[in-house]
Amino acid sequence: MMSNLSDFDFSGKVILIVEDTETSNRFYNAALSRTKAKLLWALNGEEALVLVQENSDIDVVLLDLNLPGISGFEVLKKIRKTNKKIAIIVQTAFVLSGEEAACYELGTDAFITKPVMLDYLLSTLQKHI
Ligand SMILES: [Mg+2]
Repeated sequence: MMSNLSDFDFSGKVILIVEDTETSNRFYNAALSRTKAKLLWALNGEEALVLVQENSDIDVVLLDLNLPGISGFEVLKKIRKTNKKIAIIVQTAFVLSGEEAACYELGTDAFITKPVMLDYLLSTLQKHI
């Protein structure tokens, strides 16, 4: 069942999008700017880790696995080493066998595959934000 987009109001929430692909970032920007959440962007894992360290108000990290430099797995591991509270949603286009289980083992809260359905993205965020 499709929810109305206006059902999703994330005012006061902060979402960090870790994604290196421009088309994905355009989609996330269109989808999430309407929710009134504050959006932070990282184009690679190193940037993501710096932003997580510097912004204690981040509620959710939308984390791509295939990133230039350190992988999303590594980012997930490093965030969880110091922060058990922040919600992490892995989002990836290429799902290899065992990847989803590995991500849950490393502490992700959710795992979604691209292309991401708008309604599914928003309801997953709602659940964890
Ligand atoms: Mg990528």
